[in-house]
Amino acid sequence: MITDDTIIAQASAQGNAQRGIVRLSGERVLEAVAPFFFRRTVEEQIPPHNLVERAVTASDVLENDAKPSVIPGWFAPWGDERPTRLVRCSLFYWPQGRGFTGERAVELHVPGAPPILDAIVRAVCEKKPARLANPGEFTLRAFLSGRIDLTQAEAVLGAIDAESDVELQNALTQLSGNLSQEFATLREQLFDVLCDLEAGFDFVDEDIEFVSKEEIRNRLIESRDHIEETLKRAKTRIGSDRTPKVVLAGSPNVGKSSLFNIMTELFAGDKGQAIVSNLAGTTRDYLEKELQIAGVKFVLVDSAGVEDVASNVENEAPTPRVLAQDGLAKLFADAAAIVRCLEKDATDPTQEKKIDSLIPSQTPIVRVITKQDETDSVNNDEIATSSLKRKGFEELGAAIVETLQGGMENGEIVPSTAIRCQEALREAKEALDNSLNMLDDLQLRDDFLLASEIRLALDRIGLVTGQVHTDDLLDRIFSKFCIGK
Ligand code: GDP
Repeated sequence: MITDDTIIAQASAQGNAQRGIVRLSGERVLEAVAPFFFRRTVEEQIPPHNLVERAVTASDVLENDAKPSVIPGWFAPWGDERPTRLVRCSLFYWPQGRGFTGERAVELHVPGAPPILDAIVRAVCEKKPARLANPGEFTLRAFLSGRIDLTQAEAVLGAIDAESDVELQNALTQLSGNLSQEFATLREQLFDVLCDLEAGFDFVDEDIEFVSKEEIRNRLIESRDHIEETLKRAKTRIGSDRTPKVVLAGSPNVGKSSLFNIMTELFAGDKGQAIVSNLAGTTRDYLEKELQIAGVKFVLVDSAGVEDVASNVENEAPTPRVLAQDGLAKLFADAAAIVRCLEKDATDPTQEKKIDSLIPSQTPIVRVITKQDETDSVNNDEIATSSLKRKGFEELGAAIVETLQGGMENGEIVPSTAIRCQEALREAKEALDNSLNMLDDLQLRDDFLLASEIRLALDRIGLVTGQVHTDDLLDRIFSKFCIGK
């Protein structure tokens, strides 16, 4: 991919809008737009009949190209010598090193009609010296010029693809450099250890210890733990399914299906039929439906169908029961949160205990007391619902959202980064584990080998942020972008 020429593309979304944006990046941005650009005074609102001040060269567009500027003007992309068709245009200019791509950049803000935006891109490309940008090329240039690292590039895509407030928030946090900063600190710490170790190489024969073994160990442990923690966060963002699952758990007849129906009616947007899924390894069906509350998306799962086998089939061979329990355990294990449904006074302690034992201990739980038609005498950490009176469901929705967001608090890694960085981080952690083993084992202790493990860890972390990269990797990441981003 050539990256030293000048590129152009529509940067705003397709379709009509009040404003549309065409973006250019590269050394010759001003030259590229000059033939079509006419300066105007800010007061000038209606296109004039006679346009004399046609910009011919870059310096006609802008006298001082050393500082960012906004220039009001008209744009005439339709190729007439004395143009009669003009569109109002604000030209934004950034000199080298100041714009998003790190190169000289121009944005043309014009009325957002597709024919106008198409005409501008076509006209500029025909005249040269700019060409149509490839998908993701603006972001790629930002990366190559060191404006952003790879985790931030992926966050750009995460923000574009965000389907909920939480996803957008996560992407913007990552874009602002949170994750980059963490990795930079990690690399710095490891570099310091490496320098201290290597400084000692010249004095190996003289038995001088520059830094104590204890100190090196502590610093390596700190870095290793940090990587481990990041790895955990990366895992929580992936899961088996992008959308978190919230599973209803409770004895038969406690009111789960009724609750499921009302929740889907209230929060699913459309009133369509819930999806019937078949649980792997059993013949039991269960219902699930995607809901969205306050911008948070999740799949609500009614486990009623699964447990029926366990409770209804009496005196049978144990297989259906075992299968059903297996099924429930699988559903619960896959859940980001459990809505634990209980009925006052009507509960069978043995049954309840069995259900509780199937819920993984780290899974967050929202406790619901069902069938509270008349009363709602519940504890602080419980929510009272009545499907008959349709009460308590807004509270339940809010509690689910709060629980899910609690789980996401530390997970501000966009999924594509999370997937990509897992292997590299695992290898970095392994290298540090090796170096720690060497440090503790007198037989193995060899500072040269130790240093090479630390270098390996540094290299792997560099892969995540992009200090170390291959064309292949860049291709994979940036080909997911659309043109103009
Ligand atoms: P599931 O087996 O846990 O899915 O429970 P269902 O939703 O099928 O409900 C079991 C029974 O309890 C049905 O007869 C429902 O009509 C009844 N039921 C469910 N929710 C309520 C409620 O809020 N109030 C009352 N009075 N009855 C309810």
